[in-house]
Amino acid sequence: MKIQAINGFKDILPEAVGRWQYIERQARDIFARFGFQEIRMPILEKTELFVRSIGEATDVVEKEMYTFADKGITMRPEATASVMRAFIEHGLHVQQPVQRLYTIGPMFRHERPQKGRLRQFHQLDAEIIGAAEPRVDAELIAMGQMLLDELGLTVSLELNSLGCPICRPPFKERLVLFLAERHQALCDDCRRRTHTNPLRVLDCKKESCRAVVQEAPSLLEVLCPDCDRHFTEVRSALEELGIVFSINRFMVRGLDYYTRTTFEFLTADLGAQAAVGAGGRYDGLIEQLGGPSLSGIGFAMGLERLALLMEQQQNRLIPAKSMDIFVAALGMTTVAFSGQLTHALRQQGAKAAIDYSGRSLKAQLKQAGRVNARFTLIVGEDEWARGEAILRDMQTQKQQPVLLSGPIEEQARSLFAMIQTAARP
Ligand code: ATP
Ligand code: MG
Repeated sequence: MKIQAINGFKDILPEAVGRWQYIERQARDIFARFGFQEIRMPILEKTELFVRSIGEATDVVEKEMYTFADKGITMRPEATASVMRAFIEHGLHVQQPVQRLYTIGPMFRHERPQKGRLRQFHQLDAEIIGAAEPRVDAELIAMGQMLLDELGLTVSLELNSLGCPICRPPFKERLVLFLAERHQALCDDCRRRTHTNPLRVLDCKKESCRAVVQEAPSLLEVLCPDCDRHFTEVRSALEELGIVFSINRFMVRGLDYYTRTTFEFLTADLGAQAAVGAGGRYDGLIEQLGGPSLSGIGFAMGLERLALLMEQQQNRLIPAKSMDIFVAALGMTTVAFSGQLTHALRQQGAKAAIDYSGRSLKAQLKQAGRVNARFTLIVGEDEWARGEAILRDMQTQKQQPVLLSGPIEEQARSLFAMIQTAARP
């Protein structure tokens, strides 16, 4: 019996990794433009951290977490809680009142695996801690949009406000009353949610529930003056930056810690996996976790979904893997020298490949083609005995003799310089 990977856990094969690295490189570059620094946290955290931040009555905590019950430990289902834990634990605000942090890594949720929905998935996560101005919300959203733009992806942006501990509770009460009156029309989950997490009913995907909530009261109409002003200013700041968005009053997000601004980047190209990225403000979270009273806002994007979209929308070509040079040692007497030369070429910075089998030129040229080598250095026994080899341009098929003399580092340096010059268009 062959052992296979666990359902919902996926290998990212070399042919796909190029795309992943491209996305990550692009993200790191853009995050740096916005003054973000990277932070890396452990994958395991105390279960309590997620229960207290994400919230007891959320899908993630109720049924999606991988928890080692006997140890009180959970594999992180998202990054924000861990970033906040680390932020508080190390008192990062003391050195610098406003922190811009990002992290990239695997997250774990026990969900039904589908295209773009895995049990181990990967997020790009960005957080701004210690700044409450609406322009910060717009700036963070604009950064997410810039990344999607530079990846060549077409997505739509939806925006909502979830209010704050002043205006949300009275709204919740109104909503519970409204839902209780329509109990019969709701799905089983939403009947339960009416009492555990009524806001979640607003974004239930079931047709019957959607019909019910169309008539539901809107939180946007009863925001307190501060939240209302904040939302208005976020919208105009986004407009100033030329960011296109629409308002979706049914968007509630699956995590309890959100306040005020929430947003999602959506696509119609991934079926039910519509959200490519999502985030929002979480002004009470840090205090709730025992830290200082600081506001925060962040977003997370799913790398699997970004990679799938790139594949599907196909408007960016990822450079194929390639080697600068393939060293073809013909005959066993030249193998040792060829190995030394290859090593010296790599020390010079060249991407160099070699075949140690001593097999035929034809077989080795084929191999050079497979690794996409720009040049092949043919080290034949007779030529090598004369201190020579042949350099073949794999694009033009032109060949030229090269002299092999002096110390091996010198040979590698001049050879690398030669192919760099020759490769220039
Ligand atoms: P969804 O509605 O698709 O379940 P979510 O609201 O649970 O998403 P968030 O917790 O906001 O997702 O996480 C941010 C991003 O992480 C999502 O927009 C998505 O791109 C990605 N993501 C979340 N869960 C998964 C998963 N199980 N597999 C792959 N990507 C995921
Ligand atoms: Mg989810």
